[in-house]
Amino acid sequence: MKAVAVLPGQKNSVHEREVPEPRLTDQPHPHVCKVPEGRAVRVRALQVGVDATDREINEALYGNAPPGGDFLIIGHESFGQVVEVGEKVQGLVPGDYVSCTVRRPGGSLFDLIGRNDITSEEVYYERGINLCHGYMTETFIDDAEFMVKVPMNLRHLGVLAEPASVCAKAIDQAYLAQQRLQVWEPKRAFVLGAGQIGLLATMMLKLRGLEVYTLATRPGPHLKSSIVEAYGATYVGTKQTTAAELAKQVGKPDLIFEATGNAEVCFRSMEVLAHNGALIWTSITGGQYDVTLDAAKINLEWVLGNKLLVGSVNGNRRHFELGIQALSLGEHTYPGVTSKILTHPVDGLNNYQQIMPLLEDKEALKVYVNIAG
Ligand code: BGC
Ligand code: ZN
Repeated sequence: MKAVAVLPGQKNSVHEREVPEPRLTDQPHPHVCKVPEGRAVRVRALQVGVDATDREINEALYGNAPPGGDFLIIGHESFGQVVEVGEKVQGLVPGDYVSCTVRRPGGSLFDLIGRNDITSEEVYYERGINLCHGYMTETFIDDAEFMVKVPMNLRHLGVLAEPASVCAKAIDQAYLAQQRLQVWEPKRAFVLGAGQIGLLATMMLKLRGLEVYTLATRPGPHLKSSIVEAYGATYVGTKQTTAAELAKQVGKPDLIFEATGNAEVCFRSMEVLAHNGALIWTSITGGQYDVTLDAAKINLEWVLGNKLLVGSVNGNRRHFELGIQALSLGEHTYPGVTSKILTHPVDGLNNYQQIMPLLEDKEALKVYVNIAG
């Protein structure tokens, strides 16, 4: 069968290759964890999404091949249809739509209790990213434990299950951590960045009833601002109004969701958070980037204001479930809006050469490959 892969360590190595079709009895990543007998699920890939992580993997900034090989099949945002299940699989039957989680458990206590998303080990195993092959193939198999069902009527948004899990986890983590306050009823949120993560976070925070301002550089109107507004949030172009100016106009935010990919914005956002607020960082920023800011002032305000910073990455199956639930509720509350995020389809694995250029396109919110119909 066909697969799209890179040669980790070699820049611009994305290519198509033939790989053996997996059988239900195969082990997809035996160097990490084994699928227990009878618990494998075979899935026909329908759509696989790509994001900045895939771009960085192709730029050789990130990512490793599974041991014993020199290539890594990319694709960590999976959506497909079950074709075959082992005899011990419960709750999934052929025909079901699923998305598969990304990270596989290592050996830490967190990994052992199903919280591989917060592993305390330095090395992490992620399908399509690090040390495990991804989903950019015609079919894939894995343990039913890592497959999350997508409702039939949500199949048009199934490829957003993984990014939605990342947003749902980050917000959930902030709310859990804020239990330190005993009472926390955030009123106002700033979402920094209006890429797929910023937009999905905007929707999820609106669904929680907050007053949401979504900030990105370019002044509207454009597709991003129209999606933000269709979710009932306010779009703010930071070339016209900075986060600090906005905080002066509307009040400081109780929650900030940072998803710009810009390290300076991550740190500057510390200057505008309200007392008792939570700042969530989700950007993964590669390379080195120096910033000058008034550290004494930030330290003083953060201590006197009892403020919280939460870093959040990856989602386990519960976060996928939360993400899928939010996508469903979002579809009922704002019908048709989330589909507008699905801007740039690539038709078929053989058009893989379109993927990386599209990831550079500033207009692209979601680039994804239609593998099968
Ligand atoms: C993925 C996460 C992953 C992270 C770090 C992100 O692009 O969506 O699942 O944990 O990269 O590799
Ligand atoms: Zn990702």
